[in-house]
Amino acid sequence: MQTHLADFIRDTPAGHEADAILRACVHCGFCTATCPTYQLLGNELDGPRGRIYLIKELLEGAAVTAKTQLHLDRCLSCRSCETTCPSGVRYSRLLDIGREVIAERVGRAGLEGFKRSLLKRLLLTRWLFAPAYRLGQWLRPVLPAVLRAKVLPYRAPGARPSGNRRRRMIALAGCVQPTMAPNINAAAARILDALNISLIEAPQAGCCGALALHLDDSVAARAAARRNIDAWWPLLEAGAETVVMTASGCGVQVRDYAHLFQDDPDYARKAARVALLTRDVSEVVAAEKAGLLELLAKSKPAMNNPKLAFHSPCSLQHGQKIRGAVEELLAAAGFALTAVADSHLCCGSAGSYSVLQPEIATRLRDNKISALSSGRPAAIATANIGCLAHLQSGSDLPVRHWIELLDERLIR
Ligand code: SF4
Ligand code: SF4
Repeated sequence: MQTHLADFIRDTPAGHEADAILRACVHCGFCTATCPTYQLLGNELDGPRGRIYLIKELLEGAAVTAKTQLHLDRCLSCRSCETTCPSGVRYSRLLDIGREVIAERVGRAGLEGFKRSLLKRLLLTRWLFAPAYRLGQWLRPVLPAVLRAKVLPYRAPGARPSGNRRRRMIALAGCVQPTMAPNINAAAARILDALNISLIEAPQAGCCGALALHLDDSVAARAAARRNIDAWWPLLEAGAETVVMTASGCGVQVRDYAHLFQDDPDYARKAARVALLTRDVSEVVAAEKAGLLELLAKSKPAMNNPKLAFHSPCSLQHGQKIRGAVEELLAAAGFALTAVADSHLCCGSAGSYSVLQPEIATRLRDNKISALSSGRPAAIATANIGCLAHLQSGSDLPVRHWIELLDERLIR
């Protein structure tokens, strides 16, 4: 694709990057077929190729309109289009650049702006979110169905291991997960402890920055990333092997730290090392598979190979390109995985998308739940807290993080 970027961006790092991405696109449109929003809305501008054109026009100096903003807002950032693209177009990076320009030029007026700043304040302020969510969990049995669906049932985290293994890894606690599902990191810590690895958390670390980025606040996203790097660095210097992600949505963001700080003289080296050492928990457990199989052989056998449907989050399969690892671990643990049609499609959670674009998110969720339920599983497993909560809001089947199910299977 030929480009003539406008003066305001042409000679900037973002401009060079956008130019290279735009030139890689050959307009073939293969990506459109696997785009969830194009499938639902049937409009070229709600698919990747159309959005690429809109961003190109924007960077070439065309007027930025609310219509452009709407079509980019409707993108889930699921990156299914990147998986499909034969030319290796880094669409999500182009989208970030386009969204940043729009945020600067158009901003967010009225209710939309208020909704975004309220959401950011509520989700990213632990002392506001944690008590409000706990209250919701406590009142859950008497809440009206529509509100009850928005709150996960409380699951006690259970005992944490003592943390005295020789091998040590760092877990990201994250922003909302410790409140919504504290058992996820506890389950990961128990499994890794049984594999002779201590999973430790740095108290100063917090949100990975993805939520702020989804809400147009790239400054807050970078600040969150810096705080995490500063919190993890002394632990990495002291020998911690890896930064472990139990939410794939955070994993894709932390892996991007290298890119985020590539031009920052103070953080480039540290961010690159953090990104390089970041692993999804499925990669960590898969690397210890021999030890896991020994533990499984010693544990109680699974009752009648319980049927399970696995939803692979976009941030796992498209963002981090991790495919099949969780499924293999669950099968090794005796779960019978059901077939799931269109498993490449997003469930509609996509960070804050389910709140900001509720109509599309609900349609995607309902389609996903029908695909997941078609094999009549006893439960749904996934790998990201956002997908877990979004799917649970529309399903009577229990929706769990796969690491919790593995932990329960291994209860010794
Ligand atoms: S598949 Fe890739 S090259 Fe083809 S239109 Fe989509 S982004 Fe462009
Ligand atoms: S990121 Fe997902 S929703 Fe956005 S254009 Fe690509 S496939 Fe479509």
